[in-house]
Amino acid sequence: MNVTELARVLKITPAELRQYLPQMGFDIGLKAIKVDNVTARKVINAWPQFKYRLEKQKQEERQLQAVDAGSVEKKRVVIPALTTVRQFAELSGVPVNKLLTELMRNSVFASLNERIDFDTAAIVGADLGLEVVLDETEGQAEDQSGRLKEIIALEQTADLQTRPPVIVVMGHVDHGKTMLLDAIRRTNVIATEAGGITQHIGAYQVERHNRLITFIDTPGHEAFTAMRNRGAKVADIAILVVAADDGVKPQTVEAFRIIEAAKIPYLVAINKIDKPDADIMRTKQELSNQLNIVPEDWGGKTICVPISAKQGENIDELLDNVLLITDMEENNLKANPDATAVGTVVESNIDKGEGVVATILVQNGTLHVGEELQCNGIAYGKVRSLKDYLGKNLTSVLPSTPVKVIGFKRAPAVGDIIEVGRGEKSKKTKNMMNMSAPTQSVKEDEDGEGGPQINLVIKSDTLGSAEAIEASLAKIDTFGVKIKILYRGLGNVTEGDVTRAESSHAKLIAFTVNISPQAEELAREKQVEVKSYQIIYELLNDLKEEIQILVKPDIKRVDLGRIKVLAIFKTGKKDQIIGGQVTKGLIKPHSFVEVMREGEFIAQGQLTQLQSGRQDVDQVEAGNDCGLQYEGKPLIKVGDALEVYQEEKIYHKVK
Ligand code: GDP
Repeated sequence: MNVTELARVLKITPAELRQYLPQMGFDIGLKAIKVDNVTARKVINAWPQFKYRLEKQKQEERQLQAVDAGSVEKKRVVIPALTTVRQFAELSGVPVNKLLTELMRNSVFASLNERIDFDTAAIVGADLGLEVVLDETEGQAEDQSGRLKEIIALEQTADLQTRPPVIVVMGHVDHGKTMLLDAIRRTNVIATEAGGITQHIGAYQVERHNRLITFIDTPGHEAFTAMRNRGAKVADIAILVVAADDGVKPQTVEAFRIIEAAKIPYLVAINKIDKPDADIMRTKQELSNQLNIVPEDWGGKTICVPISAKQGENIDELLDNVLLITDMEENNLKANPDATAVGTVVESNIDKGEGVVATILVQNGTLHVGEELQCNGIAYGKVRSLKDYLGKNLTSVLPSTPVKVIGFKRAPAVGDIIEVGRGEKSKKTKNMMNMSAPTQSVKEDEDGEGGPQINLVIKSDTLGSAEAIEASLAKIDTFGVKIKILYRGLGNVTEGDVTRAESSHAKLIAFTVNISPQAEELAREKQVEVKSYQIIYELLNDLKEEIQILVKPDIKRVDLGRIKVLAIFKTGKKDQIIGGQVTKGLIKPHSFVEVMREGEFIAQGQLTQLQSGRQDVDQVEAGNDCGLQYEGKPLIKVGDALEVYQEEKIYHKVK
């Protein structure tokens, strides 16, 4: 294909095409006239995504130029009292790099996920031409989000077990979300004596290939957004429903933006394929052009399953693909069933008979009847009874299970994070203090046994990867070498991390995050070792090598034999020359000696040289006389017995 032809397909000029191709990762040379067909196809496939990025970049540049030139009215940004850098960037529309640079100019060396207070945000915002306004109502949500993360992080040292994925269904109105949720429930709900009549409690579970999948049963993104705004992370995977007869519509775009912001994996269900005017190709085209969602069969990354919710067609295939994504996400789908429960309210209402009824999706731990319920440390009642979506009474509920909870004294809101009290609060608070004050946790962790120890400070991009690293570290057989994670945090490596690592003699690990130039310089100055990794496997291998160096071999005593001392030829300050007879075993030089007198231990030394008939030999058998040089306290007397042994070192391979 000619370059001009390809440019025409992409609706740009050949010059632009030549300029963009290297940026897209294609190298055809500046003067090329033709492109081979395979490359051309790849370029066409990659184009929508690149174009989107390009336009976004241009838009940001335009905004910045406008701000710099002072040609725009000050933009008003409403932020909570505490905000992360990332959140501030999102709210203000200022590109992250620009924001970080501006923070640095103000001597704030924050990472993306670090929180900055309102005053800092206001000062930096003003420098960027923004009017920053405080929103006090938002503060609570941020606190909750942090709290949920902390609570879950707290439990991560314990045994984590795989939990079912939680799925949310989103898309444009009338595209069939409700019908799809019904179709899934109808075909795959676990049959019961009651005949499988499900009740609407806001979420349900189905079984496929003996695996559970949890569905949030409130279609539309309002509930999801409400939960996210309150800081709750509920869904693990999203299904974006698009009707094949209607294509991408405004709420499809909106739903997709929400999925993107939540950073959860998703797949697309192209619904209503039974309709005569259904057009799967056109729908895919729209997905690709408008949202850069490139279907797998077009060389993209997104799984698109054509379905008919009405006729129940391909529902199983959709679920199989959900399980496929679940397998890929395995590391993020873990919870500790032994922990005290924490979960999010997915539905809440007041029932005339039962009083306040709320559905909680248990996210970590096991929820039991009788437990105290709390939200933000405030008592909310006690679990009187638990019912599943089939109306069955339960006594306890595992992670990823939705359950109707009766016993609330106050009505919680959708998105509220509910914790179990059980009088364990003081313990939790203590642990939490340790998390924020690493030095304290070192103290507590130190068991006084001594022995080699590797201290680590880990910065990573997500909580999931930090957990994956920690779980993998726990699996290494370290043969007594202790690995202590003194601190783990999200975001780029900052000077604070370097100082932290220095004060606790820790290695600093940057996992899929960057190191700020200031942090790098400080690390050099303080001689703190900072290592960057993109792959857990490489991180583990390096650590194993270091552990290997520190692993002490096991020492095994191997008895060689016994010598009866018959003569002392010479006694020095720290050595003696002895004559004797081997009465047992086989003696070798370069051995250890225990001097025994009438069965009592007298001294210990080494046999450095062995002679037989005035010749140096490397062994003398029982029944023979020998001469030997002994090094050690010169206490040997005629008649003593010398127990001769060697030490064998057994080295362990760190795996
Ligand atoms: P929601 O607003 O996205 O929850 O959409 P609904 O599930 O309420 O469906 C909207 C309309 O589309 C209803 O009239 C459904 O009967 C219809 N519908 C949903 N799925 C299908 C399908 O697979 N095929 C056909 N022909 N109609 C469907």
